[in-house]
Amino acid sequence: MLADCICYHRRELIGMDEMYRNLTLQMLLATVLGILLAKAFGSPQWLTSPNVFYDVIVMIKVSFLAALKMLIAPMIFFSLISGISNIGNVMRLRQLGTVTLLYYLVTTSLAVLLGLAAVFWIHPWTEYPAVLESSLNFSAERMIDPNNSSLTLVLQQLFQLIFSNPFHALANLNIVGIVANAFLLGIAMVIVLPENSPLFTGVQHLNKVIMKVLGWIINLLPIGIFAIIFDFTLKLGFNSDYAEGFLSQLFQFGLLVVCLTLVHGAIVLPLLAWLATGRSPVNILHSIMQPLLVAFSTSSSAATLPVSMQTAEQKLAVDKSVSSFVLPLGATMNMDGTALFEAVAAIFLAYLYGIELSTLMVFTVFLMAMISSIGAPGMPTASMSGMQIVLLAVGIPLEAIAILLVIERPLDTIRTTINVEGDLIGTLIVQRYLDRNNRINPA
Ligand code: ASP
Repeated sequence: MLADCICYHRRELIGMDEMYRNLTLQMLLATVLGILLAKAFGSPQWLTSPNVFYDVIVMIKVSFLAALKMLIAPMIFFSLISGISNIGNVMRLRQLGTVTLLYYLVTTSLAVLLGLAAVFWIHPWTEYPAVLESSLNFSAERMIDPNNSSLTLVLQQLFQLIFSNPFHALANLNIVGIVANAFLLGIAMVIVLPENSPLFTGVQHLNKVIMKVLGWIINLLPIGIFAIIFDFTLKLGFNSDYAEGFLSQLFQFGLLVVCLTLVHGAIVLPLLAWLATGRSPVNILHSIMQPLLVAFSTSSSAATLPVSMQTAEQKLAVDKSVSSFVLPLGATMNMDGTALFEAVAAIFLAYLYGIELSTLMVFTVFLMAMISSIGAPGMPTASMSGMQIVLLAVGIPLEAIAILLVIERPLDTIRTTINVEGDLIGTLIVQRYLDRNNRINPA
């Protein structure tokens, strides 16, 4: 049965791999075309007196960003409920739930902290003049008022967001409220409903439908990127110093994210596994190489799931009851690479836009990166949609996403690999915890 499933997914993976390779190429072409056409034909005067062509570009840009934003709320809500309802029974929820969630929270926090600590320690972008500040006019909503430095007020605001009714949270894109409601409803469903309740199937199906729509929007990325980059180049002016400086900033950002993600994957996670289980990091990494390669080539934790399941059971000798809980839930909720990327990206964009970040705003970035990574589904480029909430929280304009989209594809391969590694190491640690507990308290 598992073998059939894995064969099927392998065939699917080959198709997906090809599709995303094409998309990567198209996105690169769209970026280059956007810059070249804006430079060759665009005029800065269009910004003050737009013509039809520029109006169409702006319309595409705004509509594409709206399409990305449209899915955030249902995507996070149903992806989380469906992840939790996968648990299927109360006993497993009690036994495995706490330790698994704790593991997810600890490793994701470590990843975000690593990203933030490195950014503030290395200070890679402070020397750079805030080119966008002067050249772009923007206004964005902020969750945190930069003049307000009271932690209790922020916490109070946070609790108000958490305890908001689900319809209000969904309609108003209150991500914290959506995550809290999804958790409460998901857990309550597992507790009160029988395992074969049609509600579970309904939620899983709805989730699939939303993923399909997200897939369509992701296919439109090249057109969206073209419009955003065209407009961006126009607003940036035609100053080649700016353009050069901007590209080198982007390269530095990409390099930093890659290095930090690798540190998390090659040192932090294996070290945790070694401390918890005593297994050699080299041995663990060698055993999980196959799913890591699949994750790298597909950029999808969800698509890698069957290979991860097989590896956990056969190569890591993890019990099926543990792997079938930790891995599917982890493919939705546990994304260390994604959280690290989002946190560093938010700081990078804040520098670029000349937005000063107070300690409180950095704390908000930390929190939002965690929440957004928990809500992101395990699909290629999926976190770009959730990334918007991190930007909105600290007042970075949404169109800044275009900057990330330029180098999104290569970074996604690496962060997905680390996301999957985090899930697999999670199975080892949870298994070890259960073994030890059962020995101390035999049932
Ligand atoms: N591609 C990632 C994953 O599947 C999600 C993301 O960060 O976009 O794990």
